[in-house]
Amino acid sequence: MLIKKLWMNNPLRNYNYIVACPDSGEAMAIDPLDHGRVLNAARDEGWTITQVLNTHEHGDHIAGNQQLVRETGATLLAPAAAAASGAIPSVDTPLSEGDTVKVGPSVTLDVLETPGHTMCHISLLSRTDPPHLFCGDTVFNAGAGNCHNGGDAATLYRTFAEKIFKLPGNTFFYPGHEYFESNLKFTRDREPGNVAARETLRDLEKNRDPADPLVMCTLDMERQHNVFFRLDNEEIIANLREKFPGMSDAPNAEEVFIKLRQLRNDW
Ligand SMILES: [Zn+2]
Repeated sequence: MLIKKLWMNNPLRNYNYIVACPDSGEAMAIDPLDHGRVLNAARDEGWTITQVLNTHEHGDHIAGNQQLVRETGATLLAPAAAAASGAIPSVDTPLSEGDTVKVGPSVTLDVLETPGHTMCHISLLSRTDPPHLFCGDTVFNAGAGNCHNGGDAATLYRTFAEKIFKLPGNTFFYPGHEYFESNLKFTRDREPGNVAARETLRDLEKNRDPADPLVMCTLDMERQHNVFFRLDNEEIIANLREKFPGMSDAPNAEEVFIKLRQLRNDW
């Protein structure tokens, strides 16, 4: 499987992705915002875009659909619920949990329903070793998607607990946005004793390249850096208690997740 990661360098800090089959050059664009950038990148690689896939219905993840489809004749794949409601128009292939997506003869991706950021959100997990997860706005490097534009924090927690936390530790994440530095600062604020977050933030500040902030994170790295993966951490819970004095004596992981998500909204 070949993967091209395109940094949009826009205020919303979007990533666009292209996944291609090394045997046939057939390619799938994921969450295209800038159709011209995606087309040029595919052309440069000698790939042919035959499919366009959306992880969810937000405008910055579907804006390039129409023109990409018009210019390539690609098939549009999207969450079944977004297709049914019309939130994503002109869907050819509605996708649900357990479906598979093929890109050429050599690439197979499994569809996981990962609601929470929006209620119809899906992610794509490659059948490769290591696995690669195209997770839209579910997981970010050192962070979690917000829930204030059609989502629900308790649902996002269940997605983390039932799907994300159970992936192999060497799974690579391909998020829809680049928020690594601000997420690490949030981790530092919530868990000042987190040495990994402190050191990674220091490295990032030293080697910052605004034209190419590309960062790769695995699940094991998220477990170290991402507060939303550290829900039983005593320092995080003690600091939350200062903000939420009414919190239960021994808060469960869901309560910690939801409180952290609430604080991150105003960060
Ligand atoms: Zn979104």
